[in-house]
Amino acid sequence: MKISESEVQKMKLKGKPKCLTCGNPLSFVYDGAKGYTSMKCLRCKQEFLVNLETLEVKKITKVC
Ligand SMILES: [Zn+2]
Repeated sequence: MKISESEVQKMKLKGKPKCLTCGNPLSFVYDGAKGYTSMKCLRCKQEFLVNLETLEVKKITKVC
């Protein structure tokens, strides 16, 4: 499955959840997204849980 960049740009962007640690954008969320997803910051490697409906970002802490 493929989608062109211009087709993606036509989609309505809902927001860009950002890393709570370094402020790096984690990903682009498009309109209609629901539920939760986990994302890893490419810069500081911290993992986050993102609520796709509210764009709320929560840091996933590791229990050791
Ligand atoms: Zn980060």
